[in-house]
Amino acid sequence: MKEKEQYIIPIFVPHLGCPNDCTFCNQKSISGQTKKVTKREVKETIEEYLKSFKEQDSYKEIAFFGGSFTGIEIEKQEELLQVAYEYVKNKKVDSIRVSTRPDYIDKDRLKLLKKYGVKTIELGVQSTNDYILKKCKRGHTFEDVKKASKLIRRYKFELGHQMMIGLPESTKLDELNTAKDLAKLKPKMVRLYPVLVIKNTELEKEYKSGEYEPLSINQAVERCKELYYFFTRRKISVIRMGLQNTDLISNPKNEKSEVVAGPYHEAFGQLVEDSIWYDTILEKIKKFNVKVKEIEIIINPENVNNIVGHKKENIQKLRELYDVDVKIKQKKEIRPGKFEIKVIKTYTDFLDE
Ligand code: SF4
Repeated sequence: MKEKEQYIIPIFVPHLGCPNDCTFCNQKSISGQTKKVTKREVKETIEEYLKSFKEQDSYKEIAFFGGSFTGIEIEKQEELLQVAYEYVKNKKVDSIRVSTRPDYIDKDRLKLLKKYGVKTIELGVQSTNDYILKKCKRGHTFEDVKKASKLIRRYKFELGHQMMIGLPESTKLDELNTAKDLAKLKPKMVRLYPVLVIKNTELEKEYKSGEYEPLSINQAVERCKELYYFFTRRKISVIRMGLQNTDLISNPKNEKSEVVAGPYHEAFGQLVEDSIWYDTILEKIKKFNVKVKEIEIIINPENVNNIVGHKKENIQKLRELYDVDVKIKQKKEIRPGKFEIKVIKTYTDFLDE
């Protein structure tokens, strides 16, 4: 049976309620130009999105992103949640999610979210290493993350964690340790965000003085890929890799972009996925145990781009590094996400020709 299409109705709540100044964040400068979100705007956004969804029989979720939702004054939280909850009660929307900081979670806040039908709470964790958290002035510790995560699960919310890759002084090992720490807290889902250097942040100064060196795209893809494997093996869904593109988070060459440096790519998550497909193909080729010259990959049409890779990178790498040519055959009967692989020509055949 075909799975239901899932749609998100994002509502951005800029820096409201956040008195912090994380060194990588400039929500303050952005929100300086953005007024507070009103009830009317929330309603209008929801209506607009609902009209734009193609599949009516789909799973729809209202998501309050940005800032720290549970840090906003109670009246404002209630005002925004009331609007969203109406849509859940009228069955026009299936659920609500909010994102917030670990130190803004307590019983009273959770009771309020329960009252308005919130299903999922995502915590901005970023790292579980207290030294790194301090270095980027997060203003909370790993202990806060543990307490908040346990409380969220005790109140029967779905728990999500967000972690960052490439924070100042954070190594690959630190990130793997963060992933291990998070897995113990049993989140249902995680988001992985490679650090971008954003204008008017402390990190920008560190970058310009040479104190901070951002990851390259390749490094960020490799690190995210390892974390992706780590989480998915433990049945924790990785629901996003890379920041959402907006006018402000866009190619640094764009005039409006707030990104100064770092592993920005408009389809970052896609790069990681393509790289995972590459690994899987290579693993299968190696299992043939003969020197392969040409293969045929049979695949569902919706995964052709994953096999080919961004700018044909996967196909080129196989040719350049392993001298393997790839033919692709599309077949609707193959389950999306799966593929079949056949050897068309071994190296011995090739030499005999
Ligand atoms: S807690 Fe979130 S919103 Fe506040 S400064 Fe840090 S990253 Fe920005």
